[in-house]
Amino acid sequence: MTVERAAELLSAAHSGLAMTGAGVSAESGIPTFRGEGGIWTRYDPVKVASIDAFLEDPAAYWRVSRERGGIALAARPNPGHYALASLEAAGLLVAIATQNTDGLHQDSGCRNVIELHGSSRTVRCLDCGAREARSDVQARLEVEMPPRCKACGGIFLKPTVVLFGEPMPLPAVQEAFALARAADVMLVVGTSLVVHPAADIPLAAVRSGARLIVVNAEPTSFDSLAEVVIHGRSGEVLPEIVSRLDA
Ligand code: NAD
Ligand code: ZN
Repeated sequence: MTVERAAELLSAAHSGLAMTGAGVSAESGIPTFRGEGGIWTRYDPVKVASIDAFLEDPAAYWRVSRERGGIALAARPNPGHYALASLEAAGLLVAIATQNTDGLHQDSGCRNVIELHGSSRTVRCLDCGAREARSDVQARLEVEMPPRCKACGGIFLKPTVVLFGEPMPLPAVQEAFALARAADVMLVVGTSLVVHPAADIPLAAVRSGARLIVVNAEPTSFDSLAEVVIHGRSGEVLPEIVSRLDA
């Protein structure tokens, strides 16, 4: 059975690496971008989530971001996040590289989280560089649109996430690729693997000889490369895998 095979592979891992996407947080109530109920069926990503669109009209960006931000700030880790934290604590994963910006891996107790697309918990002023907690800015959105920088009054307060048209943070990308090349097991969870270069990370792992495990609600383009493919919800599948690990 596939869950057992995944547990077997992970039990023997010495340098396992996980990579996660929006699907791992879906059961925490944060909508994914793609797939059923994904927000890109409602919004054009280039219009709402590109750096050009943000610079042209920060208020329009924040009107969309307000809804998502409120959901993300209230979200709590689900059993999938906790299962990954326990795999890390057991020494079977050395890190969790994530495309998510919600901070839920850290909340679930993971120590080595590589944020490939930044964090939505912090906001930075593009004029003066001042930083603020997203929760403080979120509270102001009801009365101020777009929100203004508390330090300089500027209107270009941007969450510290990677928008379309922005580069990914180089140190995070380099660390993820280095760990992928050294990985003996690569566990990919809740990502459609269509955003590059993030999708190249599992590819680098496979090319260097890692065994690939894919856990996702729908088929992905990486399924044919994987030794184990489990189509299901990560909040159910990952705890099942953990419960079958060799003691
Ligand atoms: P995606 O939205 O493109 O794909 C999500 C995948 O997860 C889909 O293939 C879907 O079938 C699967 N899925 C849905 N529910 C699942 C579940 N319960 N268990 C397992 N799989 C499930 O997501 P992506 O590939 O991560 O990338 C899009 C970009 O969107 C990323 O860069 C990410 O930064 C951003 N994003 C982040 C968050 C977040 O921080 N929580 C949420 C949405 C999008
Ligand atoms: Zn400022």
